[in-house]
Amino acid sequence: MVTIKSKREIELMREAGRVACLAQKEIEKAIKPGVSTLELDKIAERVIRENGGIPAEKGYPSGEKGVPNFPGSICASINDEVIHGIPSKRVILKDGDIISIDLVANKNGYNGDCARTYIVGSVPESTKRLVDVTKKAFFEGIKFAKKGNRLGDISHAIGNFIENNGYSVVREFQGHGIGSRMHEDPGIPNYGKPGRGIRLEAGMTLAIEPMVIMGRPDILELDDGWTIITEDGSLSAHYENTILITEKEPEILTII
Ligand code: MG
Repeated sequence: MVTIKSKREIELMREAGRVACLAQKEIEKAIKPGVSTLELDKIAERVIRENGGIPAEKGYPSGEKGVPNFPGSICASINDEVIHGIPSKRVILKDGDIISIDLVANKNGYNGDCARTYIVGSVPESTKRLVDVTKKAFFEGIKFAKKGNRLGDISHAIGNFIENNGYSVVREFQGHGIGSRMHEDPGIPNYGKPGRGIRLEAGMTLAIEPMVIMGRPDILELDDGWTIITEDGSLSAHYENTILITEKEPEILTII
């Protein structure tokens, strides 16, 4: 069921989104060679808690038998890791890496979800372009995030933009509705057909998150039960914001 948020709920979503964004801003400042992904995790947890929130990814159930709940406050996915990388003191950023950080702040029962891909030191132009196209794909998608449009309009715009730039869309994972639960209906694939899917209504809050691979689209899951990597070892980037469908233009809740 797709929930329509009340005025009060929208205020709570704005606040949760603000806290999630603050955590990303602090992480961005800390990105440099020599820093471990566990240090980044600690920064996120500190900022979220200092602002009255809870890092919602921590303890998130895997849904798979024998796989422990997610241990981190962030997902930290380096280079060929697509999503759901587990923060670790043994994973140290080095010059030339890219790292995507996906985090969720829950405050007063509502969630703000955002992901960014950061560049560590200097990288080739081709890597910058991947990161840039991934971010732009989000903005291409939300051009269609308007009352009366259909969900497929967003999905199509994202997928088309990614493929027209010569990259692959991750098909096994998708964006989602968000609110008092981190994952709500609808699922929002990063590919699709215009004119299909549910009709967008003011008061819907959606996490839209292009996941892009430089090479082939195939992915694998590591034995940790969480980390998703590209099968061909090529780089992958991720960019996400929580947005609100309004009477006019969408409002991005996780950019302040
Ligand atoms: Mg996310």
